[in-house]
Amino acid sequence: MTPADATTVSADLFSRAQQVIPSGVNSPVRAFGSVGGTPPFLTSAQGALLHDADGRDYVDLVGSWGPMILGHAHEPVVEAVRDAAGRGLSFGAPQSGEVALAEEVVSRIAPVEQLRLVNSGTEATMSALRVARAATDRDVVVKFAGCYHGHVDALLAEAGSGVATFAMPGSAGVTAATARDTVVLPYGDRAAVSALFAARGGEIAAVITEAAPANMGVVPPREEDGIGFNRFLAETAHASGALLISDEVLTGFRASREGYYGVDGEGWTPDLMTFGKVIGGGLPVGAFGGRKDLMGLLAPAGPVYQAGTLSGNPLATAAGLATFAELDETAYATLASTSRALQQMVADALTTAGVPHVIQNAGTLFSVFFREQPVTGYDDAKMQDTEAFTRFFHAMLDAGVYLPPSAFEAWFVSTAHTPEVLDRIADALPGAAKAAAS
Ligand code: PLP
Repeated sequence: MTPADATTVSADLFSRAQQVIPSGVNSPVRAFGSVGGTPPFLTSAQGALLHDADGRDYVDLVGSWGPMILGHAHEPVVEAVRDAAGRGLSFGAPQSGEVALAEEVVSRIAPVEQLRLVNSGTEATMSALRVARAATDRDVVVKFAGCYHGHVDALLAEAGSGVATFAMPGSAGVTAATARDTVVLPYGDRAAVSALFAARGGEIAAVITEAAPANMGVVPPREEDGIGFNRFLAETAHASGALLISDEVLTGFRASREGYYGVDGEGWTPDLMTFGKVIGGGLPVGAFGGRKDLMGLLAPAGPVYQAGTLSGNPLATAAGLATFAELDETAYATLASTSRALQQMVADALTTAGVPHVIQNAGTLFSVFFREQPVTGYDDAKMQDTEAFTRFFHAMLDAGVYLPPSAFEAWFVSTAHTPEVLDRIADALPGAAKAAAS
């Protein structure tokens, strides 16, 4: 029984929600479908802590799936939003915050010469894809199994059998024609990428990849003969006149000050990049950017239509800018040491309890797989003991630690995860590891 099941307020809210909201949630993973039980309904959050409608609090290791890198209700961010709100909620016209936010991203990420703001990561990848198709006058897009790029029709495709198959739609409502233009390959499989380009290079508009996959758990790109997978993709795509879209919605400004590009950006350049989460400081923002000649294809100057009533919203840019203002090298050093300390604590607890596990990281991001062998792709990720994870998850929740409710997600720390907060997690771990082992 989870804390929420044992009480009534969250359970009542969940039951009411299910009457008027499909499955009671506005994004599927929130329904606790893969771990079971009732999700706590949250009322407020401060620093590293979440508070629910039943008066319980939890150490948060989800961070709204990435944006809350400074912790919740961080005063300078809240103050910036309050201040912006007093000056108007939305203009639907240019405002200085958009310029400052674009300048911030352009100054951090060398391949981004121009940036356009949108309202979510999904919009960012959808628009980047449209630009890539327009620029190349080609239709086919290549993605990797286990990489998530938002709920864009063309990117909701999953692998069929074989190496370079036409994809099957990964969601009802995606047409077969859309899925036919998407080819799904196993992540990290250079031979499959080379074979596909040899056979169909002239049809491929773009390869899209998470800069470091983190939506099947964290699976960092590997080097072979001194060449990283992202660089290999850039070189292979460019040799056929295709583009590389590096999706940094999750890793951007989290894996390092320059996102994952700052971790392995040596010697290669993506043509387009996508961002979200951290750049909005907790408000709805996404962005895509890249080479000026490609971004110049966008309307009104160019033929690629893309727009948004709320894009460049002044509250969102204020939250993003206030967040960036604190994301200096010191903040990343703190995030890195917090992340390392937490990984060690989890590893120690699981090892002591005899629970097979492997922890993988990409910059300050990490995830825990409940299996012994390293995970190099989606097939590996699926071969883990999800039941052990479920027992672990519920024991942690009971002990006041809120983990991602799925074995396939990254764990997120913030600069508000102080040593005292880590102590609370340390107290919860032995019992949860024992539950996982049982
Ligand atoms: N791309 C990546 C790598 C993501 O992790 C996500 C969301 O988790 C998205 C795109 C979609 O972003 P959003 O949920 O803001 O639409």
